[in-house]
Amino acid sequence: MIHTSFDRLVVVSNRLPVVLKWEHERWTVRAGAGGLVTALAPVLSRNGGVWMGWPGTSEQADVHAPLEEFSQSQGYLLHPVILQTEDVRGYYYGFSNEVLWPLLHGFHTHCNFKLDYWEKYQKVNNRFAQEILQVTTEDDYVWVHDYHLMCVAREINKGLSRRKCGFFLHIPFPGPEIFLKLPWRRSILGSLLEFDLIGFQTSQDMMNFVRCLECLCSNTRVHTEQNLAWIACGDKEVTAGTFPISIDFDEFAELAASKEVSSRTDKLHMLHPDQQVILGVDRLDYTKGIPQRLEAIRQALIRFPDLKGKIALLQVLVPSREEVPEYQALKEEIERLVGEINGQFTEPGWIPVHYLYRSLPRADLVSFYLASEMALITPLWDGMNLVAKEYCVCNYREDGVLILSEFAGAASQLYSDAILVNPYDVNAVTEAIRRAFYMHPSERQSRMRRLRQTIKTYDIHFWLDSFLQAAFDSRPQEVPMAGFSTFLSSIDRL
Ligand code: UDP
Repeated sequence: MIHTSFDRLVVVSNRLPVVLKWEHERWTVRAGAGGLVTALAPVLSRNGGVWMGWPGTSEQADVHAPLEEFSQSQGYLLHPVILQTEDVRGYYYGFSNEVLWPLLHGFHTHCNFKLDYWEKYQKVNNRFAQEILQVTTEDDYVWVHDYHLMCVAREINKGLSRRKCGFFLHIPFPGPEIFLKLPWRRSILGSLLEFDLIGFQTSQDMMNFVRCLECLCSNTRVHTEQNLAWIACGDKEVTAGTFPISIDFDEFAELAASKEVSSRTDKLHMLHPDQQVILGVDRLDYTKGIPQRLEAIRQALIRFPDLKGKIALLQVLVPSREEVPEYQALKEEIERLVGEINGQFTEPGWIPVHYLYRSLPRADLVSFYLASEMALITPLWDGMNLVAKEYCVCNYREDGVLILSEFAGAASQLYSDAILVNPYDVNAVTEAIRRAFYMHPSERQSRMRRLRQTIKTYDIHFWLDSFLQAAFDSRPQEVPMAGFSTFLSSIDRL
């Protein structure tokens, strides 16, 4: 029904959803992984859509022909936006990674507010806009993704030609006390108002955005209904909404139930017969709270000697931004802590922390999900955290416990059946681990059943449909999710 409202869906993201490699004197193209591709690719193929993005190659590389060939096999067009290496440095490594990423995650002291970064960011956003204008018509729907491209609609709207344009922010949006530190706050907020629809992960993020607008625009009016907000700000109007992103439930559930995964899982169980495995899976990033988590494991073993020899943390750390000194230092800190804890507690037959520094193939990751009695997911701030949802979906045996940070976007949906923790409160995390360790199987089962049901109902397809429905019908949807104050007060009543 929604798909008849536009000619083609045009998805725009920083990177194309493919991996290009120069092998044996030619370019090879492989499909990228991830929920976004799973959700959007079928819609694009069905309607003859387009995906636009930077191919990740240098400006000298001619990747048009291999991408065209790959496009034919996929049923939709992959359109590369070619960028100069120097512009990528300022726009991507600079403004996106050193300004917007820390700022929007509340780490404003990590920001490097360089004027040159901002200039490159605008230049590249303008470059994307010009390319969009060339590739699309007024009958297409342009859906821009994430913080790298917040100024695209402003650049499109500068000309006479119009495009219907939506935007989805995959990471959090902070309140004014943080966002207003940005030297270019007015320009970024003004640019976001140029989209027709702005999607956020949680109602908290959306309300933070509204509070920022109210600070900079004295005449802001807001009408909210269910997951949508109609905002008028000076002479501009925009619809905002909350659309919590999710995963393909069936895809993960099927893989978890496959023979391949269950035999791997049984082997893992045999390696830890009398222990409960606690799983951590994160990209190397300071937002993920990994040192705090390791400290909680150390404290749990000190405070609760009954857990010695009975729990083991399996920490998967996926390499990321390794060339950045701050990330290198974080990796060293994590490895020092792992070494210290293992040195302090290891006994013959038991190692408290198993540490893997690499990216795992999907089947291995799923067997880890299935073999772990708990998932300990403690980001300091996270847009959603898909690992939390994947862990639950794969746990079809319904014997796992999800310990989840209050500051993960997923908490706004999963708060009543996960054990919620403040990741900065080491004692609270240790107590959550002990509580999960002793949780009765029937309680584990009933909690996990409800978690899986919630994720099944509000899966990636629901996310896609609800966004496009809001884009074309402006009809609000019931998406049960709690505001921050609801689930915080249920834990910490004074
Ligand atoms: N992931 C993966 N291989 C690994 C570890 C993680 O493919 O070895 C995937 C995982 O399945 C999940 C994604 O990486 O879909 C991480 O998403 P999340 O939202 O949790 O965090 P992000 O890295 O996007 O901040």
